[in-house]
Amino acid sequence: MRKGPWAAVSDFDGTITLRDVGDHLLLHYGFADRRTIEESYSLKVRVEDFMKRAFAGAALSERTIADFVRKKVRARAGFREFAVFCERSGVPFEIASGGVDLYADPFFRKHGVRVRSFFGRARVVKGGIRVSYPFLRRSALSDFKASRVARFRKAGRRVVFFGDGPNDFKAARLADKVYAAGRLYRLCRERGVPASRLTDFGRAAAFIERNP
Ligand SMILES: [Mg+2]
Repeated sequence: MRKGPWAAVSDFDGTITLRDVGDHLLLHYGFADRRTIEESYSLKVRVEDFMKRAFAGAALSERTIADFVRKKVRARAGFREFAVFCERSGVPFEIASGGVDLYADPFFRKHGVRVRSFFGRARVVKGGIRVSYPFLRRSALSDFKASRVARFRKAGRRVVFFGDGPNDFKAARLADKVYAAGRLYRLCRERGVPASRLTDFGRAAAFIERNP
């Protein structure tokens, strides 16, 4: 393995949270069905385009979303401790997500965690929610995620990456250590990218400590 100090980059939905919050919200309030959600995970679909389309007709208030997050959204074990570990150990930790601030902000408030993060911007408008991704400019989300990993590597760091979706694959391929759940885990297996199963963030902290 290469040497160098560690950095960490993570997806949010389904990785830091146990379920994809966007999908869960859309399903729970009947703004999408399972089939539409399933199709959104094709490698050919841009998550950011799906989010814009799906939320455009989702008539939900900020308050409803915040309450939903407080009551229904669960963090993966060890997330908060991992964020604290990174801060104490000088490991830069970033979140790069196709999710949106309207549900991410209440999540981080609930857990008392502050991590540098990139989320879509969601604004309640008449009849739905307008989603935009100011940090993407012209690049696709999957390339943006990969670019955050590449950036740390260029700066001489090793990168641990966490993800669960097909749009995390490009980033996973560039990382020095991958913790993957769900579809990303299967994709890594199929395409020969070494990945450990993401269960608890505590394992990643232990791994970093074992490989200084
Ligand atoms: Mg995800």
